[in-house]
Amino acid sequence: MSKAISDIGIIGIAVMGENLILNMESKGFHVTAYNRTVDKVENFINGRAKGKNIYGAKSIEDLIASLKAPRKVMLMVKAGKPVDDFIELLIPHLSPGDIIIDGGNSHFPDTERRVKYVESKGLHFIGSGVSGGEEGALLGPSIMPGGSKAAWPAVKPIFQGIAAKVSDGSPCCDWVGDGGAGHFVKMVHNGIEYGDMQLINEVYHIMKDVLGMSTDEMHDVFKEWNEGELDSYLVEITRDILAYKEEDGSPIVEKILDTAGQKGTGKWTGTVALELGIPLTLITESVFSRCLSALKDERVAASKVLTAGPKPSFNGDRQEYINYLRDALYAAKVISYAQGYQMMKAAAKEYGWELSYGNIALMWRGGCIIRSRFLSNIKEAFDHNPDLANLLLDPYFAEKIQACQNGLRQAVALATINGIPAPCLSAGLNYYDGYRCERLPANLLQAQRDYFGAHTYERIDKPRGEFFHTNWTGRG
Ligand code: NAP
Repeated sequence: MSKAISDIGIIGIAVMGENLILNMESKGFHVTAYNRTVDKVENFINGRAKGKNIYGAKSIEDLIASLKAPRKVMLMVKAGKPVDDFIELLIPHLSPGDIIIDGGNSHFPDTERRVKYVESKGLHFIGSGVSGGEEGALLGPSIMPGGSKAAWPAVKPIFQGIAAKVSDGSPCCDWVGDGGAGHFVKMVHNGIEYGDMQLINEVYHIMKDVLGMSTDEMHDVFKEWNEGELDSYLVEITRDILAYKEEDGSPIVEKILDTAGQKGTGKWTGTVALELGIPLTLITESVFSRCLSALKDERVAASKVLTAGPKPSFNGDRQEYINYLRDALYAAKVISYAQGYQMMKAAAKEYGWELSYGNIALMWRGGCIIRSRFLSNIKEAFDHNPDLANLLLDPYFAEKIQACQNGLRQAVALATINGIPAPCLSAGLNYYDGYRCERLPANLLQAQRDYFGAHTYERIDKPRGEFFHTNWTGRG
């Protein structure tokens, strides 16, 4: 039986768990590693963990005995049933005040349920988003913990110790909120990631097929953009992808099959937006774009039938349009984040969470896939006004979006006229124009609803809350 020497135990020796363990050890923490398939523990201890302050547990009992109180056990296993199974295995061995942490990509309603269940056993439960993939896990991820707040002081030094740091040294990790708030914020993060990626893809599509740019030319543009206010991890890797050549000198990106996969967190974001009644149009379109890309065989067949449509051609000023695309990307990104924040505000109200929107921007500022320079401006916006109704109404972003909206309009127009799909750029522009529209055509919609379903309507010349019905057909 081992001695209680470890600061934390990690269950799940796969890509994320293994790298998080090494990260924790490198920051001075003593860690116990355990895995369902115990052979993997042995391999890890004799491999990457060799000579380090990492103990390989042979059983759950061994794992528990190796932990200092209050015991902290972090699950880095496949989301879903494996998490519930491990909770059941752990509970009988833990003591009041001990902490179970789920660092996988769990759906937030599951975390809400687990927090209540584990707390009912006298224990604490933290559901934490961890972003940054393999490299982030090893060198500094973005960590978004929520759940049993009483457990946070014990976990904070470890999580903030291993998290990515921004330039002033602040960790990309802070307490998010009660229940499933941590996993909710991680879900929105993933949705924003889907949106950011699709926006870059649409800009690439227009550059390639309308402006006729080569991958080298596109590489140069993304390089330049990454040195300005679009500076972000995703623009950076796009720059590098476009420069990557096969041995024969041809760009590898053009050889990759155009069907995108997904693991489901983007879909969750869209589904939850519909449930909360939030117009999260840009992210949702990005999920649908992946769905459409997956219909490769149908698209190939349709391309032979639906031949009517413009052939891309361009005879304008290319640099002028590259600048429009830059502004379009920036504007659409701001709109996407505005929608994501609007959804977090709605969820906070629905679930009774006290979310710190500025801190969320800070958590995303480094370590994760959506890290970017402009998240500092989002943090400033919410620090300046924590009750900001919509990011687009912040003075800084209101000025920026108004300066860039013409670029977005030009990009959408160019794509549309040339028959190039740009669903996320268009969704962004439509949201901008819809949100700033004082009078939408929903008056007619209300009339239609009243016509066929007697749903009633309010009138602009009467106080709000007074409802009217018209007998549209004159029939009794
Ligand atoms: P993973 O492939 O999602 O999961 C592998 C781990 O789960 C292994 O330890 C495996 O144990 C265990 N496992 C699978 N099915 C199990 C079951 N039925 N019962 C018990 N254990 C089971 O690993 P990962 O990629 O490292 O991700 C871990 C978590 O982090 C996931 O929730 C993932 O969504 C999330 N995440 C991943 C990334 C990423 O870039 N990979 C980024 C952020 C978050 P065995 O070895 O015994 O099979």
